[in-house]
Formats: sequence, C-alpha cells, structure tokens
Amino acid sequence: MVVIARMLLPAGLEPLRERFEVREGGLEVTREELLELVPGAHALVPDPSVPVDDQLLDACGEGLRIVANFAVGHDNVDLAACERRGIVVTNTPGVLTEATAELALALTLAAARRMSDAERDLREGRWWGWDPSAHRGIELRGATVGVVGLGRIGRRYAELVRGLGAEVVYTARGPKPDAEEELGARMLELPELIETADAVSLHAPANEETHRLIGAAELELLGPQGVLVNTSRGPLVDAEALAAALRNGKLGAAGLDVYENEPEVPAALLDAPRCVLLPHIGSATTTARDRMARTVADNVIAVLEGKDPPNPVGV
Ligand code: NAP
Repeated sequence: MVVIARMLLPAGLEPLRERFEVREGGLEVTREELLELVPGAHALVPDPSVPVDDQLLDACGEGLRIVANFAVGHDNVDLAACERRGIVVTNTPGVLTEATAELALALTLAAARRMSDAERDLREGRWWGWDPSAHRGIELRGATVGVVGLGRIGRRYAELVRGLGAEVVYTARGPKPDAEEELGARMLELPELIETADAVSLHAPANEETHRLIGAAELELLGPQGVLVNTSRGPLVDAEALAAALRNGKLGAAGLDVYENEPEVPAALLDAPRCVLLPHIGSATTTARDRMARTVADNVIAVLEGKDPPNPVGV
C-alpha cells in the first residue's frame, strides 16, 4: 500500500494506482489525520511540507520500505531515522532544475528592479506620473552575481545570469573546474563572495552547515544596493535580520520563494519594503511538476518490485 501524504499529480498517481492500493491525505491533511492514514504503508510519499520523523515512521509500521520525497530537497526527512529502520529514501533531482533556476532568475530581476513595490504603488494609487527618482534598482549586465551552491540548479542559474552579462562568483563544497572554464566563474569563500557580489542567490541544501548562512552581518556586507535571492530553503536565511536590513536600508532588495516554517511567512517580511515574496513555486511549471510526480512513481515502483531505485538519497 502506498500513502501519498498530501497530493501527487496524475503523472505519478496513475502508474501507482495501476499497481498498488493508494491512499491520499489531501492538501489539507492534518498531522493527526496523517498518523491515522499511514499504518500498513509500504511506501510513503511526502512533500517538503511533511516532516518525516520517528513518530511518522513508527506510525507507518515495519512494512515501510521507501520514503519517496516529492522534491529534490530532503531536509524534511530524517535520513538517519530512515537508515536505522532500513528504509530507502529517494528524491526527484534534475527534472526541476530548469524551472527552479528560471524562477531564481525571475526573482533576481524582480528584486533588482523593485517590481513588487512598484506594482503595489501602482495598484494602490501611488503613481503620480513618471518619476526619475522612484524604484531605482541595478542592472545585471556588468554586475557580479554570487551563487551559493553551484550544483544542478545553481549551475543553470549561473548560465542564465552569465547570458545577461553578469560575472559569476560561487561557493560550493568543492571547486567546479567545468563552470570556471565555461562560465569564467570564480570560487570564493562566503564572506568574500558576499562582499564582491551585487546579487547573491542561494542554491545549497538546508542542513546543519547551511543553517542561517545569511544573517545580519552578511546582509550588511551585501550592502544598500545588494540583492539577496533565496529559492533553496528558508532556514538558510535569518528572516528577522533580513526584514530589519530591508527596513533600515542596509540591504537593497530581496526575492524569496521559501520560508522556515511554511506556509507561515514572518510578519516582518510581509511588511518589509523592496521584498518580492512567492509561495514556494520554484518547481511550479507543468513540465517540472509532472516529471517530479513520475519520478516519485518510478522510485516507488522500483523499490516495491525489489529493484534499486533510480534516485536514492544517502545519509
Ligand atoms: P545539488 O545539485 O545537490 O546542488 C547543491 C549544491 O550546494 C552543490 O553544489 C553543493 O556543493 C552545494 N553545497 C552543499 N553544502 C554547501 C555548503 N555548506 N556551502 C555551500 N554550498 C554547499 O542540488 P539542486 O538540485 O541544485 O538543489 C538545490 C536545492 O534547491 C535543494 O536542496 C532544495 O532545497 C532547493 N530547491 C528548491 C526548490 C523550490 O521550489 N524553491 C526547487 C528545487 C530545489 P558540491 O557540489 O561541492 O557538493
């Protein structure tokens, strides 16, 4: 039996239904309802908003063989708890790279050009005609863009901003000679990257190492014209410090797709100026979401049929 914690699109749901009994929690499912739904599951399909911890795994029972996350990021899954029980964890790498990199580019441009404040002013009747001093931002041609995490998505984003004429600097766990050669990208330590960059975009996973990578000191270093973009995960950024830096004019602008306790958005951010806020839509294209759903199904089918899954995640 396969339990979809919340929802899976037909591209993944149909192949699963052809082979197994499938139960779905639905988008509104509560934690209590989920705990009642999962006993007897052989496969569990969570999404980034579903924490998979000891309690949920215990509720599934000993028959659980795979947690197939409906996302590439897997910070919602306690990998060690799965490993202790011999449960395979899988994700959906690659199929959402283009969609997420394009959204990061869109957020970079939207923040750099103050689009949310400008649109709000227009809609709310604060437009009195062409104003040479209003909503001035930065251009990407000739700017330096810092990419934190030059993996699949970070690399594609770097190509996109390079195409607009930006210089690329990056951090990662190890050097990326290909990107250095093809994009002229330079690897820097984080403080130097932030000091050098006009815009910084986060593409590293959420884990202990990246927790609060960007706080008050980093934002101040990025500066009053600087742009911060986060399409990775909320915990990488201190949201209160970000809101304060925007309010105090210490940071130019920000574009966010992710938050620490989704779907909660800190009130300070909702009130902050020069801040574009999106509801975690990085992978929200029809192509990417269908391919993610199909990838989930491929992993579940492989494991439940006794084969190696295509996308295992290690501890
Ligand atoms: P990936 O290919 O694994 O890339 C992750 C990159 O982060 C790698 O280059 C890695 O370095 C680097 N990294 C890891 N730890 C780091 C650290 N402590 N400091 C600096 N860099 C570090 O993953 P991906 O497919 O590009 O996805 C990246 C993240 O995007 C996911 O984990 C997820 O959280 C997020 N995401 C969000 C959305 C959305 O809807 N907003 C959609 C998709 C993904 P090495 O290459 O040297 O190991």
